[in-house]
Amino acid sequence: MSRSRQADCRQPVDLRVNAGAPGLAHNPFTTPGRHRRRRATLWSVRLLVVEDEIRMATALRRGLTAEGFAVDVASDGLSGWESARHGDYDAMILDVMLPGLSGYELVRRLRAEGQWLPVLMLSAKDGEHDQADGLDCGADDYLTKPFSYVVLLARLRALLRRGRPARPVTLTLGDLRLDPASRRVTKAGNDIELTTREFALLEYLMRRAGEVISKTQLLDHVWNAAEDTAPNLVEVYIGYLRRKIGPEMVQTVRGAGYRLAAAQA
Ligand code: CA
Repeated sequence: MSRSRQADCRQPVDLRVNAGAPGLAHNPFTTPGRHRRRRATLWSVRLLVVEDEIRMATALRRGLTAEGFAVDVASDGLSGWESARHGDYDAMILDVMLPGLSGYELVRRLRAEGQWLPVLMLSAKDGEHDQADGLDCGADDYLTKPFSYVVLLARLRALLRRGRPARPVTLTLGDLRLDPASRRVTKAGNDIELTTREFALLEYLMRRAGEVISKTQLLDHVWNAAEDTAPNLVEVYIGYLRRKIGPEMVQTVRGAGYRLAAAQA
């Protein structure tokens, strides 16, 4: 390592900014020495940071740039969404509470468009449901503020190792779409109102589209064991579902059960 590089490594500028930024925890692991040893050279990795708190955004940009990442920052949800759609990024660090468009909605829109950019979500919220909401929307990982910078880097490296997830969070079959996170079902772009039970039934069938599913399987997975289930209950609900999504999509396989299939054009 050259003298100038060594001198550069001793510059504490990013650490001082990090220490003063809201949301970044003072953590014994973020000592300058430890930080220097972990400095990577990942010049080819481009990150998008979507964060509206200026001090936090600045701290992240400086810290991540010092780690060798190329970093762009967007300060509101809509510009973050546009950047994520059109930029060639390897991962995104996304705040939840943003002006314009929340982090949840941003990631949901990206996933709905088939964009699988790895997303690490940041939020001051720390409830179980908030984390679950973030992951259900399509985020890949979630970190609660205040967080350790070292943990952020470790999570980021793990995300980058995993690469882009291959599995869509929204289920689709033909022109039928079901989003488990928003509990929204559309057919040819039109919303379909389903009861909780109808939704559960459709989700189960969509996750196994093309397979023959027996009435017993449906009763076991869509109804609780404790519920009083009449023998014709599945038939009744299949009937409701057919009326709402189109009779041709739920096929009866005589003596075996039902099969969900895309309508023939
Ligand atoms: Ca925010």
